[in-house]
Amino acid sequence: MTGRGVVIVGASVGGTRVAAALREAGYAGALTLVDPDPDAPYDRPPLSKQILAGDWDAARASLGDPEEWGATRYVAAAAGLDPAARLLRLDDGTRLGYDRLVLACGAAPRLLPGMPLGGVHVLRTLADCHGLRADLDRIGDGRLVVVGGGFIGAEVASTARARGIDVTVVEAQPAPLSGLLGEDVAAELSLLHRDNGVRLLCGTSVAGLVGGVSVTGVTLTDGTTLPADAVVVGIGVRPATGWLADSGILLDTDGGVLCDEYCAADADHTVYAVGDVARCHDPLLGRHVRVEHWTNAVEQAAVVARAIAGPDPEPYRHEFFVWSDQYGGKITLLGRPGPGDETDVVRAGGPRRRFAVAYRRGARLTAVLTVNWPKALVVARRSMATRGDADDVVGSWKNL
Ligand code: ADP
Repeated sequence: MTGRGVVIVGASVGGTRVAAALREAGYAGALTLVDPDPDAPYDRPPLSKQILAGDWDAARASLGDPEEWGATRYVAAAAGLDPAARLLRLDDGTRLGYDRLVLACGAAPRLLPGMPLGGVHVLRTLADCHGLRADLDRIGDGRLVVVGGGFIGAEVASTARARGIDVTVVEAQPAPLSGLLGEDVAAELSLLHRDNGVRLLCGTSVAGLVGGVSVTGVTLTDGTTLPADAVVVGIGVRPATGWLADSGILLDTDGGVLCDEYCAADADHTVYAVGDVARCHDPLLGRHVRVEHWTNAVEQAAVVARAIAGPDPEPYRHEFFVWSDQYGGKITLLGRPGPGDETDVVRAGGPRRRFAVAYRRGARLTAVLTVNWPKALVVARRSMATRGDADDVVGSWKNL
């Protein structure tokens, strides 16, 4: 390396894990972290839960101080890249040379037409979280409409409901997560909303926002208008890579950075990508995948730190795992259900909805969903690690 060192764009979980892992691996060169968010680095999962609920202060979500890793911190956005000259340009005019560049700049929430509008929120940053919390205080036990029933939407609905707010979730699919879980399982999972007093409207999208200075309602594609004192929009994200458009770095149609199995975006392994922005080649699946889950950013950060600082590079192999905390319980998904997979559902007793689903291709277990049943996850994890047999797992669940 020339002494310009490693520059990391994005100081969220992916970027900070790369910084920490580089130091752990003995990397002693220069390290620079770039992020326009003045509150970074902090962890995002608590933004829709503990911090939104007011149970945690922001400091508890901190991911550490860049000084711990001997890193120089720039509060600015990356604005341009010249890979041939190994130069990164920031929006404040700074030019940073690098030996290795790590793109960990995450994704930006998709918006609805008519945004920005008072009382309409997305939830990505700590500032977003504080703004939404203040608005939930303002509306008291008023009406919140959540657009999108994915993990962000469901977690916000759960947190708001616990505060006594009247919550309606609008979801375009037949049930939230039905693309991922299949319609029957998704429909059963969606009952959690109803159990907890949240209204769920599926198979209809939000066509527009109603209001002058502040939102008063949302119009659905079926023509009805739902009154709303506040709205949260959780309809997905897009990789924040617009600034790379003319750089020569290859982007997929959705804006993801195309990478090999070492998360490298170029042939000479100078530029890497991790987390929401990275569309990496997965050797097991035999194709490129982009995964927006926290665990994926952590795994890829380890791969990139190892590729840069040694000992030997190891390819990225994704263990698909995602969790979501809703209504005082936990939902986990391990593995990725395939479109033709069959399912076995095992329901456990108890006062709250509790079940596990084994997805199978023939005898082989391909994925496992658990709802409020941590022991079922422990059993399934053991089995998945050894490419387990679906019947064995289902049998073990029945004996729990
Ligand atoms: P997030 O990270 O924001 O939760 P996901 O992609 O996991 O993102 O979930 C977004 C959800 O929003 C999906 O279930 C999708 O079907 C739904 N959705 C997208 N656009 C609309 C819309 N206009 N109205 C209602 N639901 C929508």
